[in-house]
Amino acid sequence: MMKKLGMIPNLKLSLPPPDEDSLVKFLTQSGTFKVGDLLVNRDGVRIVSESETQAPPPIKPSDNQLSLEDMDIIKVVGKGNGGVVQLVQHKWTSQFFALKVIQMNIEEPARRQIAQELKINQSSQCPYVVVCYQSFYNNGAISIILEYMDGGSLADFLKKVKTIPEPFLAAIFKQVLKGLAYLHHEKHIIHRDLKPSNLLINHRGEVKITDFGVSAIMTSTSGLANTFVGTYNYMSPERIIGGDYGNKSDIWSLGLVLLECATGKFPFSPPEAEEGWTNFYELMEAIVEQPPPCAPSDQFSSEFCSFISACVQKDPKDRKSAPELMTHPFMNMYNDLDLDLSSYFTSAGSPLATL
Ligand code: ATP
Ligand code: MG
Repeated sequence: MMKKLGMIPNLKLSLPPPDEDSLVKFLTQSGTFKVGDLLVNRDGVRIVSESETQAPPPIKPSDNQLSLEDMDIIKVVGKGNGGVVQLVQHKWTSQFFALKVIQMNIEEPARRQIAQELKINQSSQCPYVVVCYQSFYNNGAISIILEYMDGGSLADFLKKVKTIPEPFLAAIFKQVLKGLAYLHHEKHIIHRDLKPSNLLINHRGEVKITDFGVSAIMTSTSGLANTFVGTYNYMSPERIIGGDYGNKSDIWSLGLVLLECATGKFPFSPPEAEEGWTNFYELMEAIVEQPPPCAPSDQFSSEFCSFISACVQKDPKDRKSAPELMTHPFMNMYNDLDLDLSSYFTSAGSPLATL
């Protein structure tokens, strides 16, 4: 559909650089092109088809053509421990992206390892996983261009609605499980940092997992292992004590996130008040020593309670896998309601974080 003009670079030099009008006039006079047939950018000139002048084709992850200079920054949409996330817009296609910048001053070998691991993210293709388009390292920071999710995170959404009713939870977590099954069983990736802020939503009612691999980089990169500043709240017992862990560690986190969305509070709340844990060891003791949390059976369906219990078993071997959980009765008990997550996400709480 679109061709680069082979011999045009000379032409580009002979024209006053960004004056698109005179270029179009010149070429129109040559009898070959009409106004609107040409686009000029810093790489030169390209011919565009008529349909393309109306709506340029969306950029695909495989295009490998994004650069930070081609992005306009629109606004900051979120801040995490490691850095900031901005809404940006591609100058030539008007497409929106999320740009995540993580400050990280590191030496060359670790940098190369990070670049390699981020490439793995780029190869992920699943509708339930946030697309990573490109990543760069420059000036002590890693920049990652991600698919923009205009509803923000489930953590943001939960702040607005306080609790999410069971039927919506079934529809939301069905998508999360599909994403998790893909990561675990097709990509062989353990997420390691599943939590409400790493589940993103959009106005189409889609739910996608993000930041898989980022925490793997943080924990596996030599010299960075001790600088982990994320939350330990959703960490499985086997992991928090420093033992071996696998896919089932994410299933524990999934169960806690689901329970938090249903009840509106983090399941391992400290005994008195809302203050949060005073130290890491108290939290660790609660996770390791206390019986696993469960859903109150007077407020939730038996299917929901059983689903939670299938996730938050102390022994990872007793937890179900993502594909097994997809067939759990809780996942399908509300199918008849034919719920519209899109209108739920857009109507509940304040408007989505769009322009
Ligand atoms: P932590 O740093 O502890 O992991 P976090 O997950 O909230 O916390 P970030 O991953 O930096 O930190 O994300 C910060 C916020 O930015 C998220 O909570 C979410 O609101 C927003 N955000 C992140 N990625 C996207 C995206 N692709 N599209 C839209 N908003 C996003
Ligand atoms: Mg995150």
